[in-house]
Amino acid sequence: MSVTEIPNLGLPVFEPGSVWLVGAGPGDPGLLTLHALNALRQADVVVYDALVGKGVLELARVDAEREFAGKRGGKPSPKQPDISRRLIELAREGKRVLRLKGGDPFVFGRGGEECLALAEAGVPFRVVPGITAGIGGLAYAGIPVTHRESGEAVTFATGHSTTGEVPDALDWAALARGTHVLVLYMALKHIGTIAQKLMDGGRGADEPVAVVNNATLPEQTVLVTTLGRAAEDVAASGIEPPALIVVGPVVNLHAVLGGR
Ligand code: SAH
Repeated sequence: MSVTEIPNLGLPVFEPGSVWLVGAGPGDPGLLTLHALNALRQADVVVYDALVGKGVLELARVDAEREFAGKRGGKPSPKQPDISRRLIELAREGKRVLRLKGGDPFVFGRGGEECLALAEAGVPFRVVPGITAGIGGLAYAGIPVTHRESGEAVTFATGHSTTGEVPDALDWAALARGTHVLVLYMALKHIGTIAQKLMDGGRGADEPVAVVNNATLPEQTVLVTTLGRAAEDVAASGIEPPALIVVGPVVNLHAVLGGR
């Protein structure tokens, strides 16, 4: 048996007229689940986001239609209701619709909204979790999200609300005090403001910070800095999204565990 063949694990049959919302992981195709691979092998149409790795998409059936549903070339991204409508439309055409999302569909992926729309429309669906970038991506950078003593609690937060600003609804001072490890998605643009809020909340300027770009992909980069220097170092490095930001002493483990 070749390694690309799926052993007979009784994986489900993708019924025509249904939608599977599948997490594709942070990028490395090796991080797909067997359910995800099973979905890719059966889907008639794959509706995918910008963060889905190229190597992952190549695993779809050669004759599967591929529809991009993300931001491209500065054009505005399709609106969420339009994506949900499109999924419903494709399912009603009798297709096996694979909605493929980077990481995990339910972690800052708006998967819940799509499921609600499918449920309301009476379209059968299944959710396949994926490895979220904030855990698996950081592992590839040698940063465990929990660690004895220095990382006994971890919080995942977004640095970017629907308005595009630093989320006001988050109590940053409470986060500064209440969690050892803070993993921030979509936070690159506002790193300076967020770092300041965390320092105002009591975290030291020398608190370690890592910025992990293109996690799990061959082009992965890791910048290690501190809360006090983060804004300046990020600007000087020219790092672009997608990037994760992790705050806390667990970042120090990168020096020892970061060699892949
Ligand atoms: N559902 C996804 C997150 C989508 S939000 C998940 O579970 O991983 C998009 C943000 O995820 C990006 O702005 C970035 O902060 C993070 N991200 C996703 N993939 C990444 C990668 N390969 N490297 C670094 N950050 C990534």
